[in-house]
Amino acid sequence: MTPTLGYAAHSATAPLALFDFARRAPGPRDVQIEILYCGVCHSDLHTVRDEWHNSVYPVVPGHEIVGRVTAVGGEVKGFKVGDLAGVGCMVDSCGTCPDCRDGLEQYCPTFTLTYNSPDPHTGKMTYGGYSNRIVVDEHFVLRVSDKLHLPGVAPLLCAGITTWSPLRQWKVGKGQKVGVVGLGGLGHMAVKFAHAFGAHVVLFTTSPGKAADARRLGADEVVISKNPDEMKQHLASFDFILNTVAAPHNLDAYLELLKRDGTMCLVGAPENPHPSPTVFNLIFKRRRLAGSLIGGIRETQEMLDFCAEHGIVSDIEMIPIQQIDEAYERMLRSDVKYRFVIDMASLRPERVGG
Ligand SMILES: [Zn+2]
Ligand SMILES: [Zn+2]
Repeated sequence: MTPTLGYAAHSATAPLALFDFARRAPGPRDVQIEILYCGVCHSDLHTVRDEWHNSVYPVVPGHEIVGRVTAVGGEVKGFKVGDLAGVGCMVDSCGTCPDCRDGLEQYCPTFTLTYNSPDPHTGKMTYGGYSNRIVVDEHFVLRVSDKLHLPGVAPLLCAGITTWSPLRQWKVGKGQKVGVVGLGGLGHMAVKFAHAFGAHVVLFTTSPGKAADARRLGADEVVISKNPDEMKQHLASFDFILNTVAAPHNLDAYLELLKRDGTMCLVGAPENPHPSPTVFNLIFKRRRLAGSLIGGIRETQEMLDFCAEHGIVSDIEMIPIQQIDEAYERMLRSDVKYRFVIDMASLRPERVGG
């Protein structure tokens, strides 16, 4: 076992605090990584506060992990000590079911999440990236290019792949009009990717203040979704809409903007359901309402390679781990452009409290 230092929630209400635990010694197929940066995802906050009613404390959150390989098992082929590496939302799956065989491990009925998930190796729960090291089966470790700004790579492992996967699944590209609803951690990556794929990108937001930034990120048009006249100008004109908003809202307002055979895909997970959309909006133009969960390991690697080639990273604000509770509060107010990333060097014992 390897002594590990992390930051954990010990209850739904206490601030996060230092937590000593052990990682398994690397097995033959394992990669051990010194964590350098970890992105802060809304799922972290939901789990810390037990908003999904499944948290097992202590919870060490974090599934947007980048770092450097410090040890590899004897059967590991793709990594060596010193390589940069990434870990996202999953650390294991069965490997044999149809989803795993298709490279879509996120749909495996028995996959293991990076944190707060029963850990078949230890019999405890998995602990995530708010820590100084992690040990992961090679299959779930991603190669990271040294060409990219490393802290900005971390959010690609969840926010990035969650938007990349549906944009690729629905073959977004040149000649298409594509909507992105919401400009947060997910939305800002969706705008960057859809723009890079050559689509005409329209960003929907309730905040007029975000318009200039949306254009800087790659949006061709910005629509203030609270304004019915602005929305009406886009009726039945979209090939695809990626809806990243996690709060319940009126889906019809967007479904009626789809062309015949257009699809709106939901990637935000609201605590309470959206009001049911009107069936007429679906059947009259054979429109589709769909959902998508993160992405498989193969497509995550494709995304990271594409990002390295095109110089794409997340826009981030770096914080020391001691500011995590404050960062959660700011995240709840959407007061971040567009993702917090923890500088894990701040976890070093000599700097704690300093
Ligand atoms: Zn996430
Ligand atoms: Zn499986």
